[in-house]
Amino acid sequence: MHIDGIIIGGGIVGLALAEQLMERFPNFEFALFEENPYPGECSSSRNSGVLHSGIYYKKNSLKHLHCLRGRELWDSLANKYKIPIKKCGKILFANGPEEIAKLEALKENGVNNQVPELSWADEQLITEVSDYVNVDRALVCGSTGIIDLAGAIRAISQAVYNKNIPILLDNKVKGLSKSLGKFEIQTTNENFTSNFVFNCAGRNSLEIRNLLGLTDLSEKLVKGHYLKYSGNYYREKLLYPMPLKSLKGLGIHTCLDFEGNVLFGPDAQERTDASFRMEEKDIREMKEYVLQTYKGIDPDKLAMDYCGIRNKIIKAEKLFEDFWVGDPSSTGIKGYFEFCGIESPGFTSAPSLAEELCIKLDAYL
Ligand SMILES: Cc1cc2nc3c(=O)[nH]c(=O)nc-3n(C[C@H](O)[C@H](O)[C@H](O)COP(=O)(O)OP(=O)(O)OC[C@H]3O[C@@H](n4cnc5c(N)ncnc54)[C@H](O)[C@@H]3O)c2cc1C
Repeated sequence: MHIDGIIIGGGIVGLALAEQLMERFPNFEFALFEENPYPGECSSSRNSGVLHSGIYYKKNSLKHLHCLRGRELWDSLANKYKIPIKKCGKILFANGPEEIAKLEALKENGVNNQVPELSWADEQLITEVSDYVNVDRALVCGSTGIIDLAGAIRAISQAVYNKNIPILLDNKVKGLSKSLGKFEIQTTNENFTSNFVFNCAGRNSLEIRNLLGLTDLSEKLVKGHYLKYSGNYYREKLLYPMPLKSLKGLGIHTCLDFEGNVLFGPDAQERTDASFRMEEKDIREMKEYVLQTYKGIDPDKLAMDYCGIRNKIIKAEKLFEDFWVGDPSSTGIKGYFEFCGIESPGFTSAPSLAEELCIKLDAYL
């Protein structure tokens, strides 16, 4: 069977791309392949559910630019598909001169990155937050929000189904090659040919590009765990510490879901396997950190909840700090587009990554 294009991977990047392709190119026939029985079961449902502001990233990096644009696009998608989002804002708290200096540098980066709604917390807010964390100075990031991950995945998948775009579940892409100007694709159930391939396979994206002979990237896996707190806690805004070197990542912060729960996470532990299995020993260090950093936590109400895996790209033996986005001009393979190493803020950025691909694709159609 021949089809114009195939999307490999039904995480938020593949789904956002499917949504934009169907809106912008109604005559372009494509299908989405997902190896799991449901879309969005990997990183896209195993993260903090934060719509990031863009404060942390290097100016003009893909993370910076797509985070800002993605944040805007989520507002319109949420409106269009009735996806629950909430601009709750976040508070970055600092203690002592070293952390305050880090916080000031972050604010400067945020201003340079044109992140809106950044302000120092006033006395009243500092007093309010002091009941929950030790804080000398705090920065309020008003544009940060939260999104109902499952709601977003469900709504976008449904919109794609409604346009009769095939989302082929339980269907792993196992083979991919190019012959006589067309891609040949072997999946669990059928074989296809296509003119375009969009690699949105998350942590398998390198495996997919390897099939096409692109072998210049490798990756490292970093697992992050979440603890659910069943007691009452601060829910007005997200609370973020200064990033800690020993635990890597952005630091263990509070997460808020749409069912009224408060969670803590994620930590950052390097792993060699991509298993989502969790054991009590994995969360010992982060539990201690939460009890030391967040005040008034009852340890008996803190329970292991879920985990996610970030894949970080290594190029020429160095950590590649940005998203890796490839197209025919960079890969030399006509019709092939790829998204690799889409770690945080990838959920926030997904609609913008999809938008940029559609703008590029226009030139090839
Ligand atoms: C701990 C953690 C916290 C994070 N917090 C945030 C946050 O707060 N905000 C934010 O914006 N981002 C956050 N992120 C990042 C965000 O989760 C990811 O950037 C985003 O989910 C990436 O989406 P994706 O579609 O690329 O990958 P995935 O969701 O992993 O989707 C890839 C899909 O491809 C499928 N697939 C793989 N191989 C094949 C194959 N061969 N054939 C068919 N299907 C295949 C997989 O089954 C999967 O469904 C976080 C990530 C982690 C791990």
